[in-house]
Amino acid sequence: MSRGIYDTIIVGGSAAGLSAALYAARQGLKVLVVTKDIGGQLLLAPQIENYPGIKVVAGLELVQSIKEQAEEFGAEFVYDEAIAISQINNTFRVSTKVSGDYEALTVILAFGKTPKSLDVPGEDKFVGKGVSYCAICDAPLFRGKKVAVVGWGDHAFRAVKLLRAYDNKVYIIHKSEAKLTDEELIKDSKEMNIIYIPNTTVLEIKGDTKVRAIRLKNVKTNEEDELEVDGVFVEMGYTTKTDWVRDFVQLNENGEIITDKLGMTSRPGVFAAGDVTDMLYKQTVIAAAQGAIAALSAYNYIQQLMGRPTKKSDWGKLI
Ligand SMILES: Cc1cc2nc3c(=O)[nH]c(=O)nc-3n(C[C@H](O)[C@H](O)[C@H](O)COP(=O)(O)OP(=O)(O)OC[C@H]3O[C@@H](n4cnc5c(N)ncnc54)[C@H](O)[C@@H]3O)c2cc1C
Repeated sequence: MSRGIYDTIIVGGSAAGLSAALYAARQGLKVLVVTKDIGGQLLLAPQIENYPGIKVVAGLELVQSIKEQAEEFGAEFVYDEAIAISQINNTFRVSTKVSGDYEALTVILAFGKTPKSLDVPGEDKFVGKGVSYCAICDAPLFRGKKVAVVGWGDHAFRAVKLLRAYDNKVYIIHKSEAKLTDEELIKDSKEMNIIYIPNTTVLEIKGDTKVRAIRLKNVKTNEEDELEVDGVFVEMGYTTKTDWVRDFVQLNENGEIITDKLGMTSRPGVFAAGDVTDMLYKQTVIAAAQGAIAALSAYNYIQQLMGRPTKKSDWGKLI
């Protein structure tokens, strides 16, 4: 991977980001994808039945094949978290948590939605060492262990069932006193394979080189307790985490990046695509299409920057 100036930096490696990478690289742009992972929310979708042209596909399989396509056209990848963005004249700088800064003439923000976090001491420290936000990805690493699932609803229950399938003893931690209604979970809880702990929040995740326990608080009695576990699955759904671009591009009241129909944000040269945008419909094919649009718009922006002005009516002919 080179550290020169890229034509475009794409933040996010799922449907939107990878499709943008494919389109931008195929246009001959020098492309860098900065992403925490490949797949994002699609890692949680084992069966997609509404992606045109493919009857059924696993989310992971779909994104991997778009990634391969993008790589074949020369897109480069760095696995890291983007934490800041700035502009100096015609160049944008994307700063990352670990590997430093990268520069480009355009940026495509395609970082979708991020799992909600507990925001308690120990959570960040033990990510990948017992703390997980993706049961589908990590359940196989926890065979025969004691694990806590924090969350409620279909999303969390899917995680619980999956973890049970790997012979784990599963604690469900939930802050309200809602009753379990799912037959499968009720049966497992009678057999003590699942233990439901209602009215409870997590105060801290404790461990040494890996997770060993969680500190809990009963929200009704204020009593605190410690529970020995090997893993904590935070399954509280997804949120748009756009704080780091808040002062850079305009957001709507939901914290989503506002774009026009060409994927342009409020800042010329910065484009956005997929679930992170104010697009109402959050679907894979829509995110992928928005990624393609943003990439073509970035290409045309660069043409203009390089003194090869194009009329908007000519844009289709360039492709
Ligand atoms: C359980 C589930 C099932 C679904 N089933 C379907 C379905 O059947 N059909 C369908 O059409 N859609 C489905 N969806 C919706 C679909 O997954 C999303 O619409 C799609 O994944 C959006 O893609 P995206 O590229 O916008 O973002 P995401 O998939 O959210 O990916 C965001 C990417 O950005 C990265 N990222 C985030 N923040 C940063 C950062 N700061 N720095 C670097 N990288 C970052 C992430 O690691 C990830 O790679 C499902 C979603 C879920 C959760």
